[in-house]
Amino acid sequence: MSRNVGAAPYREPVPEPRVQVRRSKRRTRTVSAYRDGDTLVVLLPARMSKKEEAHWVAEMQQRLQRSETRRRSPARASDAALLARCHELGRRYFDGETTPASVRWVPAMRTRWASCTPSDASIRVSERLRDVPGWVLDYVLVHELAHLLVPGHGPDFWKLVRQYPKTERAIGYLEGVSAAAGLEITGED
Ligand SMILES: [Zn+2]
Repeated sequence: MSRNVGAAPYREPVPEPRVQVRRSKRRTRTVSAYRDGDTLVVLLPARMSKKEEAHWVAEMQQRLQRSETRRRSPARASDAALLARCHELGRRYFDGETTPASVRWVPAMRTRWASCTPSDASIRVSERLRDVPGWVLDYVLVHELAHLLVPGHGPDFWKLVRQYPKTERAIGYLEGVSAAAGLEITGED
């Protein structure tokens, strides 16, 4: 599937989510869709033809992409905006106990979404995340903020991170991005 990803040099194509079509006899005309992790679930009336199905799947993919583009994070604007977002998330989820000294956008890394150095409280975030929905970027920031308090990925760490309610969904989303782009990024950083 080809698409125009725009002229900005840092832009990565956002992958198409997997599609699952569900048909319902109770549905007569309405079509709807929602994202479940990295899958786009499209709900169709049972009697729709294959041709109509193809049309609606493409339409729903486009709508989803447009709505997710609208929901990109204000933190994408600059390093300062990224730092401000970290302070906000730190206040909301960690009672302000974790305050990074610096947060920066860095060139795309092949095996990580982000990294941090607890000794100088610095966080670096991959340019690949500039275009993901804000709630996905927030998860990555919460993850790195938690590392400023707890190294490694033990139960204490995940207990902190899971205070962010969309943690599981965001992990699913990022796995989808990684798989679709042929990256080697796993849940660990
Ligand atoms: Zn980590």
